[in-house]
Amino acid sequence: MNPVIAVVGAGFSGSMAALHLLSALPRPWSVLLCERAGSFGRGLAYGTDAPAHLLNLRAANMSAYPDQPEHFSAWLAALPEDDRSGIVAMPAGTFAPRALYGRYLAELLTQGVVAEGAPRLHLVHDAVTDLVPVADGYSLRTEGGAAYSVAGAVLAMGNLTGPGAPPSRHRLDPWRPEAFGRLHPDRPVLVVGTGLTMVDAVASLRGRGFSGRIVALSRRGLVPSVHAPTRPWPVPDLRADDLASLTRLTRRIRAEIATARRAGRDWRDVIDALRPIIGYLWRSLPGPERARFLRHLRPFWDVHRHRAAPPAAAAIAAEIAAGRLSVRAGRILAIADGPGGAAVTIRPRHGGADETLAAQGIVDATGIGRIDETGDPLLRRLVLRGLARPDAFGLGLAAGDDYRLRATRPGRLWTLGPLLRGTLWECVAVPDIRSQAAEVAALVATEVDGLPAARRQAV
Ligand SMILES: Cc1cc2nc3c(=O)[nH]c(=O)nc-3n(C[C@H](O)[C@H](O)[C@H](O)COP(=O)(O)OP(=O)(O)OC[C@H]3O[C@@H](n4cnc5c(N)ncnc54)[C@H](O)[C@@H]3O)c2cc1C
Repeated sequence: MNPVIAVVGAGFSGSMAALHLLSALPRPWSVLLCERAGSFGRGLAYGTDAPAHLLNLRAANMSAYPDQPEHFSAWLAALPEDDRSGIVAMPAGTFAPRALYGRYLAELLTQGVVAEGAPRLHLVHDAVTDLVPVADGYSLRTEGGAAYSVAGAVLAMGNLTGPGAPPSRHRLDPWRPEAFGRLHPDRPVLVVGTGLTMVDAVASLRGRGFSGRIVALSRRGLVPSVHAPTRPWPVPDLRADDLASLTRLTRRIRAEIATARRAGRDWRDVIDALRPIIGYLWRSLPGPERARFLRHLRPFWDVHRHRAAPPAAAAIAAEIAAGRLSVRAGRILAIADGPGGAAVTIRPRHGGADETLAAQGIVDATGIGRIDETGDPLLRRLVLRGLARPDAFGLGLAAGDDYRLRATRPGRLWTLGPLLRGTLWECVAVPDIRSQAAEVAALVATEVDGLPAARRQAV
């Protein structure tokens, strides 16, 4: 057996899993870290170079290591003055540009490579397209035609980009904002989605010289709320009764917020207090209630739970006040593509006549894609072969508490991060993933400890 564990994807999840694996795996085990994008360590979230794209979490919550909460703040504080210009310190906390966070992660990875040397951490700059089961593990295949023999793999493919909706040849990808610079500066642009990706897209459009009108559309037209100073609030004491249905749980949380308000506290204190138990709440709710949450409550939860950094929220508020951005609740009825743009017919949510907007471009800010919509060849093949299966809601992959994929053909495949959304729900942000990375590495190490390659080394 080749004593190698592959990690597919080198965003935050994969990079941290790889670093923890290096410390946890017995020698001679090594790690093959595979990334298809231009750089290692940054992933979709921290690959941006726009200074206006700030972290959505305070720097104090963004340490890469669960046992060193000050690690990122100390790294920021040690930066030369010239590199600190984008960092915003305010009463609600300190918010750093996401590009700086990407640099922090890339540095951690470089330190890992330097400390361990090439034989133990091998970086593969290629997309993984298949993991073919072989006698004692998998043959990992890449787009570039390479094949590596590995004993197991951690899938850290993170945030799946959507299927490319809305269907229009004028669709613009918010993750490739270079195209924004080619827009006519004055003709309207439609952004589909009104969450944090919309906030980024508006900043990118303005940052690239677009001065025209922006219309942002989503079913409910809700925009993310803003971070404010918070104080610890006790974790609500929930009874089994409260978890019997979504209605009861919502009522109970609303009552907790009302209690907090009477005590002069902010709703954010209560939402933040729920954070450590969200996974437990998710798993405790009956399946149909979880499905109801996804259908009806999720947009409301998202705008309260995933808040914008104050400067980002202020920029959106100023855009709206100046009439440069209008946020609409409604849905797209039709898109008619023309040579210089699309005529988009919108039905308002709260009645009124349908409206047709002439947009030169349509930014798809609908957010993270679902597993059953992904065109990713690796995921599709794993599912087809019964080595992986979507979770009950099609958001990510089905996995157990040990992060191992639940599939028809069980194997040595683990996952972490956003691919666990349907299983854990609260698993997409750094404070969740950093613990998962340490845990999954320890579990993989325990598993390989009993395998022939480890035993060979021990004798
Ligand atoms: C725009 C944005 C902003 C965010 N801001 C914050 C924030 O401020 N704070 C916070 O805590 N969380 C934030 N998040 C949440 C984010 O999910 C996590 O912080 C974290 O970045 C997730 O990392 P990841 O590695 O799981 O996913 P990703 O960042 O999506 O990385 C996955 C990587 O896998 C690679 N990959 C995928 N498939 C393959 C393949 N087949 N072969 C090889 N490579 C592959 C991709 O190229 C990518 O680099 C943000 C998310 C987004 C999308």
